[in-house]
Parts: sequence; structure tokens; C-alpha cells
Amino acid sequence: MTDPSPIPVRVRPEIAALPPYKQGKQAGGDAFKLSSNENPFDPLPGVLEAVNAATALNRYPDATAGRLRRRLAERFAVDDDSVHVAAGSVSILAQLVLATSGPGDEVIFAWRSFEAYPWLAVVAGATPIQVPLTADARHDLPAMAAAITDRTRVIIVCTPNNPTGPIVTQAEFDAFADTVPSDVLIILDEAYAEFVTDRESVDGVTVLGAEGRANVVVLRTFSKAFGLAGLRVGYAIGHPRILDAARSTSIPLSVTAHAEEAALASLEQEDELLRRVRVIAERRDRLAAALRAAGWRIPQAQGNFVWLPGGRETLELADAFDEAGLIVRPFAGDGLRISVGEEDSVEKVLAIAASVVKDLPEDHSGRGLA
Ligand code: PMP
Repeated sequence: MTDPSPIPVRVRPEIAALPPYKQGKQAGGDAFKLSSNENPFDPLPGVLEAVNAATALNRYPDATAGRLRRRLAERFAVDDDSVHVAAGSVSILAQLVLATSGPGDEVIFAWRSFEAYPWLAVVAGATPIQVPLTADARHDLPAMAAAITDRTRVIIVCTPNNPTGPIVTQAEFDAFADTVPSDVLIILDEAYAEFVTDRESVDGVTVLGAEGRANVVVLRTFSKAFGLAGLRVGYAIGHPRILDAARSTSIPLSVTAHAEEAALASLEQEDELLRRVRVIAERRDRLAAALRAAGWRIPQAQGNFVWLPGGRETLELADAFDEAGLIVRPFAGDGLRISVGEEDSVEKVLAIAASVVKDLPEDHSGRGLA
């Protein structure tokens, strides 16, 4: 990599040390964009009309997205104050980390997991503590619990884990949460919750409701199952005072009226949403089974993506997909994540995956026993 040019003003050293943000490749021509875990479907019925109707572009939006909060509160049977809406769940992650953690504080999460976690901790001035996943790419919750110190302020649990795919079970989560000090925030990041079909999976709504854990905040988003990634809207459910603290760090008025309307309209389309989610989950299971049959050893896939453990060969593997018009997300030295996209992309993904696995060394970690 070439050295970036010097920054002309004084910037916090830990920020200057961060690599400049690079967005994933955009799809051109006939390429399938399978690199950002987006939803291949058009917006749900009624959504475009609702967005177009919210035309008061000269007016600021409702600062608290009050109607959407009320609707979500009804849906999850909680008080309005237990719901917080922001411009994407990543905004809420940032707010919670800023609200809880500063210099000297520690933010624990599994690794590899969502790329934003280490970066958000650094931006807050806190120390990211990465706890390696198990050999089958799951959270190692006992190791995460063992990493807690008196400097720990937040533990992020991502289920299903992006980018590897496995869930945390309810039993695993309960056993873990019992060992976490009650004044340490647990963020349960459930960005892909709607795609989960494993009945053993933890469910944030149960954690908050029946179990009543006051130190857990659940994050969900309209970006994935609801297909509204471009409008930026996500939400948190949790203790109102924790959400107040998050709100205090937030940039005001970030949720646009259009995003709020689109989310409200989407929530009216539960049946169609569930139908689409089933289509994607079935496509995912078919893709995962065929990858295994082709000789890949891949972890459990419970989001809208699959993970190929590419190891040292990851970048070459990504090039092979790229040349075939399939834009995937490589994580150098580790593996590549392929989103479950249009039906027509599935056969293409399988053809390339089946051909490249044969070229991997015999003892490669991505190769199954077949
Ligand atoms: N959490 C996880 C695990 C994610 O993968 C993503 C998106 N890639 C987000 C949060 C953020 O989603 P959004 O900001 O679009 O709601």
C-alpha cells in the first residue's frame, strides 16, 4: 500500500492511524453484488408510495422518530421509552460505545466479527479487546467472559455472527450473561435475526422480556430483512436510561422522515416480509449444502450470507469470483463472505466455488473431508 499523504492539521493519533475508509466494490454491468449482505428484493409493497408521500423536504424530521418508536414498542410489547431509533444500527452501536467507554476502558467482542466493532472502540478512545472465535467460527463466550476486567464497559455479542454465520444459542447466552457484572453493558447485535431458522438461537426479545436483564440492549435493523439499507434506519430495545445515554451522544435529526415512513410502511407488510425471508433462508441453506457437497468446510450459516474459510488463498479466491462477475467480500488471510443474492447468482457462485476448492492445498482449513 502507498503511504497516504500527511494530514495538514493535528488529528488524534489513534484516528490518524486508522486506515482510510474504503467502500466495497460497486457492481457494474451484469455483475452480482454479493459483498454487503443486502436484500435482493425490491422494497416491500407500499413502501415507495409512503416514501414519496413524505415530501416535506423543507422541514426537519421528527427528532425522536416517535411514530416508529411507538409502532416498534407495540410490536415488541415494551414502553415507547424502551425503543431508540437511529440512522442504521451501526449508529446506535457508535452511540452506546461513546456513552459507555472512553480512554482506558475496554470493549470486548469476538473476532472475526463485524468490522465496525474495533473501529468504534478506537474512535471512542477505548481499547478494543478481540476474543478469537472457536475453530468452527462461533463466539467463544467462556473466553469472552474470562476477558472481562474492571475496565470492561461493553461486550458485543453478534448473532448470527457477521461474517462467519453461526448463532449463539439461548442457553449459551444465558450462561454467559449470568457471569457478566450487571453494570457492564451487553450489546446483542441481531442485525440478521429475521433470517435465523435454528430454534436454539438466542432471541433478544426473550432476553429483555421474560429474563428482564437490564444490562442488555438488543440491536436490530431495517437494512437486511426489510431491504431498506439505502434509507438507513435501525433500532435498539433496552433499558430507557441506557437508551437516554445513547441519545445524548447522537447527532440530532439523523433519521429522515423518508426512512421513518419506509420503516412504518414495511412493518405493515409482515406476511410478505416473512415470505421473502423464507425464500432467502431456503436459498442460503441450498447454497451452504451445495458448498459442503463440493468439498468446502463451511461454518453454520444463519444470516443472509455464507463464509468460505479461504485462509492465505482468500484474495486469489475473491479474484476468481470477481472475474466471473460475482463481487464478494474478502477478508485477507481469513476468508470470504458471500451474500445470498438473486436466485440467478446461486448457480454461478456454486460453479466458481466448486472449481476453486479443488486447487486448495490438501490440508487447507477450508477443505472438508469429502
Ligand atoms: N451489525 C451487524 C452485525 C452488521 O453486519 C451490520 C451491517 N453490515 C450492522 C450492524 C449495521 O447495519 P445498519 O447500520 O445498516 O443497520
